[in-house]
Amino acid sequence: MIRYALRCEAGHAFESWFPSFEAFEQQRQRGLVACPLCGSAKVEKQLMAPSVVRAGRESPAPAPLPAQPVALMAPEDQELRAKLQALRTHLTENSDYVGPSFSDEARRMHAGESAHRSIWGEATAEDARALVEDGIEVVPLPPAFEDCN
Ligand SMILES: [Zn+2]
Repeated sequence: MIRYALRCEAGHAFESWFPSFEAFEQQRQRGLVACPLCGSAKVEKQLMAPSVVRAGRESPAPAPLPAQPVALMAPEDQELRAKLQALRTHLTENSDYVGPSFSDEARRMHAGESAHRSIWGEATAEDARALVEDGIEVVPLPPAFEDCN
């Protein structure tokens, strides 16, 4: 199908679809192409390129910008965040910081080689998983929100 922009003798512009240019010419010469406004069969093709379906001559709508995940924090969320912050503060202030030797220290305590106490420090994801698999319960610290502000 081809879309033609047409104009009648009175100057009315309109558009119509035809199977082909030949079909348009045949219909036009037989007076079958009439202006929808005044009914005149004296129509001419406007001087412009025909639009072909699927050829993309239709002006495309501007592409929308990709969406970004965003969130507005509700007051309840702020409260929860404050609680997580408090939990982190509580955990870190009431336990010994052992830094990167957390994994070793946790294993020593688990094996009874050192006194049991609360500790915190750094461990890789693999270390933490290995500890859990060995029956040593470790939990990730809540995030330090001040880092994200
Ligand atoms: Zn007309």
